Amino acid sequence: MASRAKVMPAPAKTEGMVKVTNGVYAYIGGGGRTNFGLITTSGRPVVIDNDIRVRKPFLAGMRRITRQDAGLVLNTHHNFDHTADNAYYTKRGAISFGVDIIREEMEREYASGNWVKQMDGRGPSVKHLIGKLPIAPPMVTFDEQIDIRYGGRLFQMIYIDHSHTKGDSVIWMPEEGVLFAGDLLTYRTHPVNRLGDFLNWIPALALLKKFPVKYIVPGHGPLPPRGGGVIEEVKTFLNRLKSRTGAALQKHGTPAKAAKAVRMPEYAKWFRAQNVPNNALKMARDLRKKR
Ligand SMILES: [Zn+2]
Repeated sequence: MASRAKVMPAPAKTEGMVKVTNGVYAYIGGGGRTNFGLITTSGRPVVIDNDIRVRKPFLAGMRRITRQDAGLVLNTHHNFDHTADNAYYTKRGAISFGVDIIREEMEREYASGNWVKQMDGRGPSVKHLIGKLPIAPPMVTFDEQIDIRYGGRLFQMIYIDHSHTKGDSVIWMPEEGVLFAGDLLTYRTHPVNRLGDFLNWIPALALLKKFPVKYIVPGHGPLPPRGGGVIEEVKTFLNRLKSRTGAALQKHGTPAKAAKAVRMPEYAKWFRAQNVPNNALKMARDLRKKR
């Protein structure tokens, strides 16, 4: 019963560079904004995801840890807030990696003129970048998995599914037990799902549970406690959204009407709680899709 479910606590207000484990750092965006990764190696550092709008604070955090330029840039998925600053690093000699769908999706959004425009009014201003910021898709692409041995560390980039976007992958560091989950996991932060598929997302979380994780770095939200508990938390959230939206669809008939009736009161303290109607609408449409 929704009314009996306990209210989830508010997320921590962490912001900035946080140590995960030896040489592995997460830049926490704060307020549910995008997180990035920074890993030092015996070679040059490795950067996971990036956004031109927060280049300055990220680099300030990075410079406190290393003076070296990044050797690798790894992208978890194509969204602007995870890839828009790839060129900053590749111009300084980094090689960028991502699943082939990332390249396709970046090219599609760029060709439609939407790459920068879609971010207008969402967070830091992009007005000065409209028509001026080219995309820099990953140089090295793969379809299922690529294992990168670099600077004494192993990075496994693994394609998961069409869940949050068309091409969601994770970066698994087996020796450290660290999983960079991209936006497949947002910790105590309501998800965004414009191009994904909620009905693939729930089984995708079962795949994530197979990694013997010590630490998970989510795409948004603060660093969760050690272990994989965040996966179960997100799964419960999505299952509740699914069952409530399904019931609302039966009662109200159309996705638009159903979405207005869906409530997620026990998640009101999570970041981006204003996303509930959009997520209910997307869930209703995904439930209605012929499969
Ligand atoms: Zn994101």
